[in-house]
Amino acid sequence: MSLFSPTRYVASVDRIDLEELFARGKRAILLDRDNTLVPRDRAAAPDEVAAWLDRAKALGFRLCMVSNNWHRDQVMRSAGELGLEAISHAMKPAPFALNAGLKRTGVSKDEAVMVGDQLYTDVWAGNLAGIDTILVKPQATADLWYTQIFRIFERRALRNLTCEE
Ligand SMILES: [Mg+2]
Repeated sequence: MSLFSPTRYVASVDRIDLEELFARGKRAILLDRDNTLVPRDRAAAPDEVAAWLDRAKALGFRLCMVSNNWHRDQVMRSAGELGLEAISHAMKPAPFALNAGLKRTGVSKDEAVMVGDQLYTDVWAGNLAGIDTILVKPQATADLWYTQIFRIFERRALRNLTCEE
């Protein structure tokens, strides 16, 4: 499998079937922040995302936000609002922050899954760390300028991949 192939491709984070993940032995979910949980053009996560996170906690999942966002206060505020552990300045696609996320949640690689909206940060980092990945569609079209450049390559790479709605 290529370093740029997600294990799954799902329309949005709240469409991810938590019961199925749990049945497959997953116990921790590492979560990207921007455009995965919190739209780039908004300050807070939508209600359906917060509700999905609550269901995950109720099922017994350990959750940790792993964000490349340089504004640590923004990351910590969202994590606090959503009741998540958090690691900021993650520098994905480097795998170190994901390994720190495993340590923080106390699970093995096999028991974790990384969820994010970018192939060249979230999915690449997950594959480098040896963790299953779920790519989701970005919540908003607003992106940082360099992310917009990566999106061009990303669209090309995802052409043949079917998204589970
Ligand atoms: Mg993102």
